[in-house]
Formats: sequence, structure tokens, C-alpha cells
Amino acid sequence: MNKFICNVCQYTFEGETPPEKCPSCGNSCSFVDATCYTPDCGNGKNINTVIYKNPKQ
Ligand SMILES: [Zn+2]
Repeated sequence: MNKFICNVCQYTFEGETPPEKCPSCGNSCSFVDATCYTPDCGNGKNINTVIYKNPKQ
């Protein structure tokens, strides 16, 4: 499972691919892939907190 964060409302979506429309705010927003792939933060199980705090960067 990958984790994606809406760049408008920061809703977190879990799935293989991000949805076209955000289920939370209803915008066609860009979902940022925020999956943390490195072992030190959970190896795909956790949100990458650096991206989560700065979803627009
Ligand atoms: Zn949203």
C-alpha cells in the first residue's frame, strides 16, 4: 500500500494509485506520494513525515 497526501487539504489516502478526486475536499488535487520507503521510518508502512509536513514542496 502506498500513501498519498492531498496537496489541498492534506487528506491521506492509502492505496495502489491516488484517486482522481480527493474524497475529502472534492478537488482534483495532486496527491503527493508520501510513502516512507526507507527502513528507518517503517519500510512503506509509515508516512514520510518530511513530505507530510511540507506537501507542496
Ligand atoms: Zn483534499
